[in-house]
Amino acid sequence: MKKILVVGGAGYIGSHTLRHLVHKGYGCVALDNLSCGHKEAVDDVPLEMADLLDKSSLKNVFDKYDINAVIHFAAFSLVGESVSNPQKYYQNNVCGTLNLLDVMLGHNVKKIVFSSTCATYGNPQYLPMDEKHPQNPINPYGQTKLVIEKIFGDYASAYGLKYIALRYFNAAGASTDAKIGESHNPESHLIPLVLKAIKGERECVKIFGNDYDTPDGTCLRDYIHVDDLAEAHRSALEKLDAYQGFINLGTGVPTSVLEIITAAERVTQKKCPAVVEGRRPGDPARLYADNLKAQEILKWKPQYTNIEDIIRTAWNWEVNRKF
Ligand code: UDP
Repeated sequence: MKKILVVGGAGYIGSHTLRHLVHKGYGCVALDNLSCGHKEAVDDVPLEMADLLDKSSLKNVFDKYDINAVIHFAAFSLVGESVSNPQKYYQNNVCGTLNLLDVMLGHNVKKIVFSSTCATYGNPQYLPMDEKHPQNPINPYGQTKLVIEKIFGDYASAYGLKYIALRYFNAAGASTDAKIGESHNPESHLIPLVLKAIKGERECVKIFGNDYDTPDGTCLRDYIHVDDLAEAHRSALEKLDAYQGFINLGTGVPTSVLEIITAAERVTQKKCPAVVEGRRPGDPARLYADNLKAQEILKWKPQYTNIEDIIRTAWNWEVNRKF
């Protein structure tokens, strides 16, 4: 049976997508170097431990399985770290993807769905952001993803690569059975930090700025449930013969930092200790998606449209988590 190779399959979005594909009857193989991923997040499918910078072990995986298409999640994604250590980001994200493409083409595998990001747009010139919005990333992380998007275009023209790059807004939530969820070390994302403060695992959550030009002064983001992302990846995989290009994945609904905190308090029925700090460098005041293209091309709509429902899945995971 032909397999889908899920690169970064032990990571947050990768593991949810892997589960979704298996549930829909796809044969899958996960590949991960476990630098950020968790082997406990991969169930029922083979997990190949290989690093994208080690081409020979990549080749072994492609020799071992009959791979039909690749979904590529493996990347470093901390904006602040990408500023202080761009070498790590260009090496891993760009060189790693180039190696993956080399091995794919060497094995005549020409289909790829890729994790891109709204960070490729940089500061918004208009909102909601559609795919035509100019791309001027303001940090090396966003640059690495944009470089890879450009590589796909050139490889498509020259070698017939079939690609869809999905530009995510803020991934959030966990599987409904709470068996897998978000687990970063160190954690830097808002929702898990709010839940850890509520649990008493952290003293408080820091609100990065309450003097933005937004209704409550805190930043607005577009939080999209990880299972909605997973569904969109499957749809993209199935559309690769008909369409190549770039598609936003967001709900289109802006939610502020304070709204996240109060929604988490309602879900958990507990207070969240919070303090206001200065702005975090590089944070735009507002970021939210125009997701019409995803609706048209992928025939996809987010199922989670209420932030409390998203946070409830994250909370169930947070209180039961095994890794
Ligand atoms: N944020 C915050 N405190 C934190 C972490 C994040 O106030 O401890 C804010 C951050 O400034 C942004 C939003 O929460 O406006 C989402 O940040 P996150 O790091 O989760 O995702 P990003 O938008 O950077 O991808």
